[in-house]
Amino acid sequence: MKSADVAIVGAGIVGLATALETLRCYPGARVLVLEKEPGPAAHQTGHNSGVIHSGIYYRPGSLKARYSVEGAARMVKFCSEQDVPYRICGKVIVAVRPEQVPQLEELYRRGLANGVPGVRMLDAAGLHEIEPNAAGVRAIHVPGTGITDYKQVAQRYAEMIARSGGEVRYGEKIRGVRQTSDQVVLSTDGGEYGAAYVVNCAGLHSDRIARSAGAQVKDRIIPFRGEYYTLEPSRHDLIRGLIYPVPDPRFPFLGVHFTLRITGEVEAGPNAVLAFSREGYSKGRINARDLAELTAFPGFWRMARKYWRTGSAEIYRSFSKRAFVAALQELVPAIQSNDLRDGGSGVRAQLVEPSGSLVDDFRLIHDRRITHVCNVPSPAATASLAIAANIVAEFAARAELKLGQTVQSSS
Ligand SMILES: Cc1cc2nc3c(=O)[nH]c(=O)nc-3n(C[C@H](O)[C@H](O)[C@H](O)COP(=O)(O)OP(=O)(O)OC[C@H]3O[C@@H](n4cnc5c(N)ncnc54)[C@H](O)[C@@H]3O)c2cc1C
Repeated sequence: MKSADVAIVGAGIVGLATALETLRCYPGARVLVLEKEPGPAAHQTGHNSGVIHSGIYYRPGSLKARYSVEGAARMVKFCSEQDVPYRICGKVIVAVRPEQVPQLEELYRRGLANGVPGVRMLDAAGLHEIEPNAAGVRAIHVPGTGITDYKQVAQRYAEMIARSGGEVRYGEKIRGVRQTSDQVVLSTDGGEYGAAYVVNCAGLHSDRIARSAGAQVKDRIIPFRGEYYTLEPSRHDLIRGLIYPVPDPRFPFLGVHFTLRITGEVEAGPNAVLAFSREGYSKGRINARDLAELTAFPGFWRMARKYWRTGSAEIYRSFSKRAFVAALQELVPAIQSNDLRDGGSGVRAQLVEPSGSLVDDFRLIHDRRITHVCNVPSPAATASLAIAANIVAEFAARAELKLGQTVQSSS
């Protein structure tokens, strides 16, 4: 059996950041990342909006708030030191109706409480100065929000892991996990790997890996697809930075918005549509196993009962470009249907409780020699280095693991 000190399942941005952070804290540790796809960032990490989030949205004291503020600063430093393209373009969150102002003010309070630099309230004239084509009664300006390409960030993490003596193996799908008294054994079609410590960063499949390892996880990942349109280049002058609506506080999604990409393109989206396949990037995609598990989960039916109205509206907007454009016109009235062509999509791994509630905060489950990273949707790309630092600190602190000693005895 091949062995490692720390094995990580998944070469998305969180798994790779964890491997890199382990090697930074424990130079010489045998660190192995096992990924089922032929390259890094094949799922959420390679299909997101590319925003370096500031941390304004999240409940003060939550993991999302802490890790996004710290993670954003680390991400900007990383991109600048490693020559990964990034840009601090700023963003506005816009209340388009007076009744949204109290929720906007709550976001402003959160921004201050979370220590987000430079946030300020704008009136309609102030908004017009920053985004002349946006319409709103009030807005928040977050000058420090940035953009990057997380696929490139993940690729750079993978290169640095290899340079530091770690290994990333592609085409290795984990099919089983078992814990013995002194190690964790991961089975793939190619054989078995033993590790003193394992971190499950399997994104859309992390709950399955956790259950196969014997963790008592009653919650399930429910996939929510986010679909984008791309703005015609001739209309780019309508958007200067990032323009977001006031989000519905019942959901961990931000509402369809305009995003500048690091390539210079402008995207509109993503919506949040229930997907019937965990890797269902197109509308018609159904995976029989995913669908059977989804419909057997009581939390799905409870969620459907609670939010059927919003869920149906999202499905309608997914099929109706006119409805999508109408939502965008609330923010930028000059946008027309002809200005938009079909764009890409991504699928979010959202943990849902048996009660039907969507888990709002990041959730990491520490079970003996394994950490299961079970709910790290947005802003986890931004926060990846901060999440990784926390995971490494957690497994280093566990008295029975003594990673330093494991490393010494294996070297
Ligand atoms: C539409 C969309 C927009 C977003 N926008 C932003 C944004 O602007 N800013 C931001 O900060 N965040 C954003 N996010 C969130 C961000 O992309 C995710 O939080 C982040 O990528 C999660 O990284 P991950 O490594 O946990 O998961 P993933 O990137 O999904 O990686 C998990 C990896 O595990 C592998 N894997 C799964 N099962 C197995 C197995 N059995 N064996 C081996 N490997 C396995 C997968 O192949 C995959 O490579 C967005 C997400 C989406 C979907």
